[in-house]
Amino acid sequence: MNQDKKYKNISYRTVAGYLAGMVGGLICGLCGCTQAKEFEAAGTAMGTIIHQKIYGTQDITSEIEDEIVRLETQLLSRREEASEISRINEYAGQAEGLILSEELSDILTEIWGISKESGGALDITVGPVVTLWNIDTYALMDEGFTVPTEQELTEALRLTGYDKVCIQQDKLFLPEGMSLDLGAVGKGIACDRICKILEASPEVTGAVISVGGSVVTYGEKPDGTSWIVGIQNPRVTDGTGNYVGKLKLSGNWFVSTSGDYERYVEKDGIRYHHIMNPMTGYPAKSDVVSVTILSKEGILSDALSTACFVLGKEEGFALAKRYGAEILTVDENGKIDMSEGMKQYFQP
Ligand code: ADP
Ligand code: MG
Repeated sequence: MNQDKKYKNISYRTVAGYLAGMVGGLICGLCGCTQAKEFEAAGTAMGTIIHQKIYGTQDITSEIEDEIVRLETQLLSRREEASEISRINEYAGQAEGLILSEELSDILTEIWGISKESGGALDITVGPVVTLWNIDTYALMDEGFTVPTEQELTEALRLTGYDKVCIQQDKLFLPEGMSLDLGAVGKGIACDRICKILEASPEVTGAVISVGGSVVTYGEKPDGTSWIVGIQNPRVTDGTGNYVGKLKLSGNWFVSTSGDYERYVEKDGIRYHHIMNPMTGYPAKSDVVSVTILSKEGILSDALSTACFVLGKEEGFALAKRYGAEILTVDENGKIDMSEGMKQYFQP
């Protein structure tokens, strides 16, 4: 596996960070203190853009890149032949079950808990439905898109359902024809792992790292100001940095946003996007177009942002509350709603 290919153009800003760090280091060398430097890196992995900003005395951006690539290629991606998820999908239907690594067993157990608690709004067996709609491909081409027939949808739904899968500690029983797709939680899982690395790095004092729509903040900024996490305006997504507001955070947090603007195709005035309602097999249609979750765990933020998008405002707010997470939603008209606890962090 060529990791360079997976993680592109990561270095240009790291170099700038090094230079700034070296100058700072020289000045500091004169007085003998060890001042926090800023290290920055950007690249792509997990089908999205990764941006790292790390403060400390040592640059660990490449260690973090390596871990994201490991998660993607060895563990989570159904598009990577060598990943554990691909192996599971390949051997679905084996009567004796499939042995899980401890790492994946913990992850799947947590996901199954959230699937149950959300009444199946989060369901990582939704793969056959995702494949049928093929939104990822059409969102890029923007032509030739057709809505699947009822018969095709019924057939795809027959091969989905988290409740048809059994997890027994280190064993997984996945019925034949079914598969797992961790697209809704992978970036949050990456944020959890990143946070673990940061915690194990005494030379790092603060960091803010985004993996697509999932962000982790860690520690403090050297100047004592808050971490700022912008919340995308779901209807102005041309990259001009149009935000509905921002979260001002200090310390360790995880923020994930799911929206119908990330990947979609428009046909006959209808927007078909990439978040599916596992009950109907259609792109989820609720009273929100974007959901942001703030919590103390990455996988939870990512899973809940998807589940609450499917459930809509009322049930979504109730679900977030049961997990002690904060929620913010934006509807089609741009109206923002948020949980009581979110208000102290949000600034329009
Ligand atoms: P993004 O990938 O843009 O961050 P999400 O975290 O909401 O968005 O995840 C969406 C992805 O998860 C889809 O591309 C698809 O692969 C998968 N997916 C879609 N609907 C569901 C669902 N209801 N439950 C679990 N996974 C889903
Ligand atoms: Mg998600």
